[in-house]
Amino acid sequence: MMLTEGLTYFKGVGPKRAGILGRAGIANCRDLLYYFPRRYLDRTSTTAIWHLQPGDGEVTIVGRIRRIKTSSGRRRPRLEAILEDDMGGQIMLIWFNGIQWVERTLDADELVAVFGKVQTFRHRLSMIHPDMDKLGDDGPQLSTGRIIALYAGSALFQRVGLTSRTFRRILYNLIKTRGLEMPEEILPRRLVAEQGLMNWRSAVRAMHFPRSVDELNAARERLKFEELFFLQLMLCLARRQRLRIPALKLEQPVDLVKRFVRSLPFTLTAGQRRAIQDIARDTSSGYQMNRLLQGDVGSGKTVVAVSALLMGVGSGCQGAIMAPTEVLAEQHFKTLVKLLNPLGVHVGFLIGGQRKRARQAILEGIADGTTQIVVGTHAIFQEHVRFRKLGVIVIDEQHRFGVQQRATLQEKGDHPHVLLMTATPIPRSLALTIYGDLDLSLITELPAGRQPIETKLFGESRRSAMLWHVQREVEKKRQAYVIYPQVEESEKTDLKDAESGYRQLREAFRHATVGLVHGKMPSEEKEAIMARFTAGDIDILVATTVVEVGIDAPNATIMVIEHAERFGLSQLHQLRGRVGRGSHKSYCILMADYRQTPEAKQRLLTLTRTTDGFTISDKDLEIRGGGDFFGTRQHGLPSFKLADLVEDAGLIETAREAAVRLLEQDPNLEHPAHETVRWYYDTFVGQSVGRLFRVG
Ligand code: ADP
Ligand code: MG
Repeated sequence: MMLTEGLTYFKGVGPKRAGILGRAGIANCRDLLYYFPRRYLDRTSTTAIWHLQPGDGEVTIVGRIRRIKTSSGRRRPRLEAILEDDMGGQIMLIWFNGIQWVERTLDADELVAVFGKVQTFRHRLSMIHPDMDKLGDDGPQLSTGRIIALYAGSALFQRVGLTSRTFRRILYNLIKTRGLEMPEEILPRRLVAEQGLMNWRSAVRAMHFPRSVDELNAARERLKFEELFFLQLMLCLARRQRLRIPALKLEQPVDLVKRFVRSLPFTLTAGQRRAIQDIARDTSSGYQMNRLLQGDVGSGKTVVAVSALLMGVGSGCQGAIMAPTEVLAEQHFKTLVKLLNPLGVHVGFLIGGQRKRARQAILEGIADGTTQIVVGTHAIFQEHVRFRKLGVIVIDEQHRFGVQQRATLQEKGDHPHVLLMTATPIPRSLALTIYGDLDLSLITELPAGRQPIETKLFGESRRSAMLWHVQREVEKKRQAYVIYPQVEESEKTDLKDAESGYRQLREAFRHATVGLVHGKMPSEEKEAIMARFTAGDIDILVATTVVEVGIDAPNATIMVIEHAERFGLSQLHQLRGRVGRGSHKSYCILMADYRQTPEAKQRLLTLTRTTDGFTISDKDLEIRGGGDFFGTRQHGLPSFKLADLVEDAGLIETAREAAVRLLEQDPNLEHPAHETVRWYYDTFVGQSVGRLFRVG
């Protein structure tokens, strides 16, 4: 099959270029065809220089290089070139870096396309470090209205002459001479017809040599769908495969779980009950559970987690629950001891910083099985921790752990059942993308009797009003949090913020007990302060974001967040979730200096209008974009070539449905009509994406 052919012998490539392409991940014909242009150039997308004004934003200009000169400059040397377009307009192109290289590649009178921001430099219309493509003999065709593809370059590519022009030539030859060997379609034809998609061969051709903007859009739409479809197919296949991994078959129903639920001072919400049933079904199926429990802050996920762990204990196995921070682990430990001691279940605690002797005893208990449930941080899953028989793992606030961590911990024990929990409500498109191989349980309601949190946005001028609110709650014997941001790079200054805030509040509230806790404290000290706060000995807790996850102090009714503009919406929502956990009316006050960041005000107003985590995370995703949503890419978000997590939310759903339907009709893709899709998937998609997602 030509698509798998290496590139060395293709016209215009050769061993040297093939080597460089290979290093960039372009190893075969298919990879080359999927090396899509980063931009296109046509008459409608270029601007005449006469029309330009500084501040116009990014534009594309086509013209000839007129004069090139290096100038030593007072501070920094620079290279200047005049670009003149066919209307006689002129603009200066300026480089401060890579001067020698630019000078070497730039020739006078050469026709180029440049892309960049228009600004003024020394009172002249300029473009600094433009993105530049030599058009060479493509020039004449450009004026007849053809759309020209421009490819991303790199220094390495340049070194072997792999410019946009070279790419166009190679691809042109490839499609012209071998195009008929390319499959017309790789997806099931019925699917293509149903979705009204352009066929594969035409789409690939059109991406590189579009005849019109419409054709290009249709090609892009088709390939986007294909990209999302294969991702969903991969996730569905991963899920199917997991459902075939034999795992401990836990006995259901478990008497222990029933006794536990009956011992609670409240009745379960419908969502909690459903989640517990889902888990019971999974863990008694004989195959491995891999379930994500999503529920907003305060929705009562802990009770569900404990039920899952008890299902393991009831069948003579052990359970483990892992939290992202020591503070949270400690809190879980206390909660579990309180809940489970009466039932005679033995709970152990394991974190990184424990003393050697205590640690040894715990490790022994885990190894011989006397410890039935282990609560801890990721320390639980270090190599030297041996379980007698691990049946169920719960990972709380799982979005704080990377995909890799999740994958390694599952190697403990013999395919234990896994329950992931998250309080970050994520939009469905995102859930389908990151967790598409997991089963999902949702808790959509909060326990009855909770009052909605009233949220206010205050500027600096209303600081005294904020203090009045805190005062009023403290007088009612309620408790307050005052949160300061803790930004990695400037931790010191921010700590000073929290510290000076602490001093000011002590001044302002002489009759109240004010505490301070931050991430830089030794953990015992941190724990001690937190414990005093939950016990009610501290009225006002000044803190950094260490309280962000999971701290449960039902008597706390007011949350003040300083510099709220520095937090993401989802994080603010999490922080706000620390109050409103009891039956008292609660408040959240966002202190923000929005003169400096006017758009922050709009963003923060979202929080004053809704307490629904899903609405907030939708908004957050919209603002920050998919890649940024979880802070880093290592959380397992795939990087799409064409699709966009936010813009293509609808298409993600469609692709999911299509993948599910295909596998329902033909689970192993054995039907002759699915031969090509199976082959294509196995050859080009399966292993490459698969590695990213190996969760279960
Ligand atoms: P989260 O989902 O944020 O982890 P928690 O499990 O910490 O929430 O529960 C928050 C609080 O709600 C706890 O104090 C817990 O005891 C209480 N709670 C849990 N379920 C219910 C319920 N069904 N009815 C009333 N209170 C509940
Ligand atoms: Mg929790």
